[in-house]
Amino acid sequence: MEILTTVLSVTVISVVLALIIIVAEYFFNNYGECEIDINNGDKKLTVDGGSSLLSTLAGQKIFIPSACGGKATCGLCKVQVLEGAGPLLPTEEPYLEEQERNDNFRLACQVKIKTNLRILIPEELFNIREYETKIEKMEQLTHDIIGFRLKLPEGDTVSFKAGQYMQFYTKPYDKIKESVYRAYSIANVPSDNKAVELIIRQVPDGICTTYAHTQLKEGDKVKISGPYGDFFLRGNCSELVMIAGGSGLAPIQSIILDVLEKGIDLKMNFFFGAVTKRDLYRLDYFNDLAAKHDNFNFIPALSKPAPEDEWEGETGLITEVVDRFIGDGSDMEGYLCGSPGMINACINVLTKKSIPEDKIFYDKF
Ligand SMILES: Cc1cc2nc3c(=O)[nH]c(=O)nc-3n(C[C@H](O)[C@H](O)[C@H](O)COP(=O)(O)OP(=O)(O)OC[C@H]3O[C@@H](n4cnc5c(N)ncnc54)[C@H](O)[C@@H]3O)c2cc1C
Repeated sequence: MEILTTVLSVTVISVVLALIIIVAEYFFNNYGECEIDINNGDKKLTVDGGSSLLSTLAGQKIFIPSACGGKATCGLCKVQVLEGAGPLLPTEEPYLEEQERNDNFRLACQVKIKTNLRILIPEELFNIREYETKIEKMEQLTHDIIGFRLKLPEGDTVSFKAGQYMQFYTKPYDKIKESVYRAYSIANVPSDNKAVELIIRQVPDGICTTYAHTQLKEGDKVKISGPYGDFFLRGNCSELVMIAGGSGLAPIQSIILDVLEKGIDLKMNFFFGAVTKRDLYRLDYFNDLAAKHDNFNFIPALSKPAPEDEWEGETGLITEVVDRFIGDGSDMEGYLCGSPGMINACINVLTKKSIPEDKIFYDKF
């Protein structure tokens, strides 16, 4: 009897405590309806408080660039919040320069909506849309890179600048219970506007890349949104130095095809670096383009060719190869895409060649 009474008392106390927590959560976390004023009254949204500014805006079909899906690891979702954001969080600090902090920039993924907000966002973000696409083609490009061609719905088109990227949404799979999204650069030429091509490298244990590489097949549906990003051709020069590693080929390919198609008067030098031959792809494709166009040079290079590679091309770190090929860069622009280490090393070389730092553009990933 005594044991039964104890068990009953513990159960009743637990239930009461749980109810208190639920009621408290409801009152403390219920911020009710909040208003978001965008661009000084241009647009006004009434939304439920309690979620991040990034996800709330996405729910209203306003897509702020973000590559990490709201984990505060990419620093891309910067938005000017003039009122209502509360104090800057430690998670935001590494991504905001002093000037940006003074101008009230915040990471939209870290700002929780608790009250009315006044924000400023660039007009072009209103053009970003979601697309429900179908995988038209999947191509194994290397042991860990797959090319995807995603067809837009019949009659639909996408307008993007060569070099920009899309966000790619996963569905829940295996132990991953929620949809996530990640950034992938567009590889096709903007005139090919009824489809989007992406080049995705498998990251060990990566949520999105494992999904793309193991869960998808031709004919499957994929949601994407975009276009985003400011990595695109400026062309205020006579010559371009373009450097890519791995899946970083995607935006560079788009820019090269765009320049050639439009007949823009620019000389292009494309350095494609890898460790061994199994990491290179589309060699025939770019060699053919170089043979057909006098203004396009293609320089693939391997840092450690394996004996079985029978490699007769350039060898050495991509920085060494660029150093050998490029002369005075004062009338050049640099376009780089690949790992942070590769890009930082290449910026060093290019600035030594007199390419001004503000004429070197890159996407690091
Ligand atoms: C502008 C831009 C353009 C890009 N374009 C391309 C492109 O064209 N092609 C391309 O392949 N990539 C591109 N990326 C990179 C891409 O957005 C993703 O970051 C990348 O594919 C990895 O995504 P994921 O979900 O597979 O990995 P994530 O799940 O985000 O994991 C990334 C890393 O973190 C590790 N990790 C994850 N969870 C944990 C944990 N709990 N503990 C410890 N470690 C963990 C993983 O092992 C992995 O190494 C681009 C990025 C940016 C910013």
